[in-house]
Amino acid sequence: MNEEISADNPYSRLVALKKLGVVQNFDEIRKFSIAVVGLGGVGSVAAEMLVRCGIGKLVLFDYDTVELANMNRLFYKPEQRGKTKVQAAKETLEAINPDVVVDGYHFDITSVRSYDKFVQVLKTGSTDEASAVHLVLSCVDNYNARSTINMVCNELRLTWFESGVSEDALNGHVQFIVPGVFACYSCVPPLLVASGVDESTLKREGVCAASLPTTMGIIAGLLVQNSLKYLLGFGQVSNYIGYNAWTDYFSTMTVKPNDSCPDPNCLHWQRVYQMEQQNKQALEEPD
Ligand code: ATP
Ligand code: ZN
Repeated sequence: MNEEISADNPYSRLVALKKLGVVQNFDEIRKFSIAVVGLGGVGSVAAEMLVRCGIGKLVLFDYDTVELANMNRLFYKPEQRGKTKVQAAKETLEAINPDVVVDGYHFDITSVRSYDKFVQVLKTGSTDEASAVHLVLSCVDNYNARSTINMVCNELRLTWFESGVSEDALNGHVQFIVPGVFACYSCVPPLLVASGVDESTLKREGVCAASLPTTMGIIAGLLVQNSLKYLLGFGQVSNYIGYNAWTDYFSTMTVKPNDSCPDPNCLHWQRVYQMEQQNKQALEEPD
């Protein structure tokens, strides 16, 4: 990263974080690759924040196209209508910061046909394509897609953040998931998922979910803030953050993994993590 402080160097204020002793290693951000799954009200804004922070690489997934109905959120412009969200996002993000590698995939991550591709892209998503992406951000709006991301991250032992905004647009959450360490999406599933109800049958005819660019922007900010803290190792990464816009109430908590989780990979990583902790403890104990 160019450390020269000048009015036209967009990085000089980021480098100031280092100079002020807040984040010593900010320039390491260029090494990291993040997958953003879902480029709607939260994902597109999160991607823009990461690009403006100088992330090394972004791997984008979305199956939708830009519509005028999306203009109540941030990021997309009316003239991008009809383009795939992946294409529109790639163009805007590359124009903001041409140093960032932006790869995009326009497909449904839940379809059986694209599952192997989804796994493969995440597995080789690092900047040099020799290893997996460093982090996955789930910014989708349905349980099915969240469950797919959970399954893949449990399979590959990928660290990820789940996020969401409620139908009334006034609540949101961000959850940090490290397979085996914290609860996965199947460890403590939402009631709807646990009861096996088909989500598509719940859509009320003629009623569309509410939306506020404010709530979505706040959730995207919390998501990226915690992603930066995790990748660059500063501050404290919250395991779960809940946000209520009505009262401006933020709640945080830690959700431990469930030892009867239905995902066998989650159970496997729970055992591995326990063993790693025992070995660490044994090394720390005096003879
Ligand atoms: P609306 O409320 O009008 O449906 P939206 O579809 O943009 O808006 P958001 O919550 O803003 O909803 O964003 C969620 C994003 O996740 C969307 O862009 C959607 O296309 C994407 N998405 C959801 N499920 C999948 C999936 N299975 N595969 C790929 N992308 C997905
Ligand atoms: Zn689990």
